[in-house]
Parts: sequence; structure tokens; C-alpha cells
Amino acid sequence: MVVLLLGAPGSGKGTIANYLEKEYGFFHLATGQLFRQITKQNSPLAQKIKKIINAGKLVNDALTNKLVKSNLIKKMKKNVVLDGYPRNIEQAKYLNKFCKIDYVFDLCVKENIIIKRIIGRRICPVCQAIYNIYYKKPQEKNHCNFDHHILIKRDDDTKQTIKQRLQEYKKFNHPLVAFYQQKGNYKKITLTGKKLINQIKKILKL
Ligand code: ADP
Repeated sequence: MVVLLLGAPGSGKGTIANYLEKEYGFFHLATGQLFRQITKQNSPLAQKIKKIINAGKLVNDALTNKLVKSNLIKKMKKNVVLDGYPRNIEQAKYLNKFCKIDYVFDLCVKENIIIKRIIGRRICPVCQAIYNIYYKKPQEKNHCNFDHHILIKRDDDTKQTIKQRLQEYKKFNHPLVAFYQQKGNYKKITLTGKKLINQIKKILKL
């Protein structure tokens, strides 16, 4: 099955996708993570993407679509969870040409909570586990529970970039939601934490 997670930055897409990956072996495709990997290279493309991410803008569709297709096409036999893609209607239409989506979950979280989540977010640079200095502290201060690496704060998790990222989200989200609502596999989700995970597990019959 292919599960698609929609929602603003900080709405919990990464946390759910990590859960489905760790507990049920889903292939977790996170475009933000793919782009962050590219930024570590020493190339003009890496510099360009870094600038876009840190400005809170979206990377262009042609590059994003190509990256997704090349990563996804070899994993289509597995269960897949898409995290951060598609982000606009053009990407959704492109994806629709080669991939059937079984479930679309739209994670709806209030903006004040989103901002606190992003400001407090820390991630493990190795296994990508997500923590929060306010809500989800690691057992050992600033270290990953799983592999004990020092947690990092993403460069784009700053107050200023968050505003821009939320603006980008609002600009593109409505047509995207309409597209999936029309297809009939769309579900708006407003629960959080353990209740959210349980709701998703129930719908996916896991
Ligand atoms: P978040 O959901 O917290 O904003 P992501 O890790 O999904 O974070 O994305 C980080 C950044 O990577 C985005 O702000 C954007 O610059 C880029 N990005 C990720 N996914 C896409 C996409 N589907 N299309 C264009 N740019 C993307």
C-alpha cells in the first residue's frame, strides 16, 4: 500500500512515517531528508538547494519529481509512506501518473502548536528519530535514545524560516487537498500523540 501524509511543517508527518518504517518496515520517502542529504555534497546544486531550504521556499518541481520517481520506482513492491511529497498540485498530478495512492492522511494541527514543535525540534542525524525539548525529551539529554548520537537542530527550524515555510504551505495546500478529496481516499486527522498513531494503525489495519 502507499500512504501519503499531508500537513504543515511540524504537523507530525516525520514522526508517523518513522513509526511506520521502524515498526512495520514501510519504505519511508521524505523529500526534505533527500534534499538535506544533497546539501552535504560539495556542488553548485547542493549550494542552490541549501539556499532554498534555508529561505523556507520549495525546490522546483522538475528536480523534486525526478528525485522522487528515481527513489520510489524501485520500492513500489513494498509498503510506502510518502512524507513531504507531493507539496503542490503539479507534484500530485505527476505522482498520479505512476503511483496509486491508497490512503491520504491530512494532519491538521493548530499553528501555535506547530511553531512550538518546530522551535523545539531536535533530530538524530543518523537514524532521523525526532525529539522535542518541550514535549518529547530524549532519555539522555540531547542524545538519541536509539543510537546515542548527539541530536541536532535543523538549519531551517528557526522562527524566521518557519513563517516562510508556513506561508508556502498555505499557498499550495488547498488545491492539493481538493485533488485528493475528489479521489475519495482523503482523511483529515486532528488527533495527536498515541491516539493519532492508534487511529492510523486502525485505518491501515496494522
Ligand atoms: P517540513 O515539513 O518540516 O517543512 P521537510 O523536511 O519536509 O520539512 O522539508 C524541508 C525543505 O525541503 C522544505 O522547506 C523545502 O525547501 C524542501 N522540500 C521538501 N519537500 C519538498 C517538495 N515536495 N517540493 C519542494 N521542496 C521540498
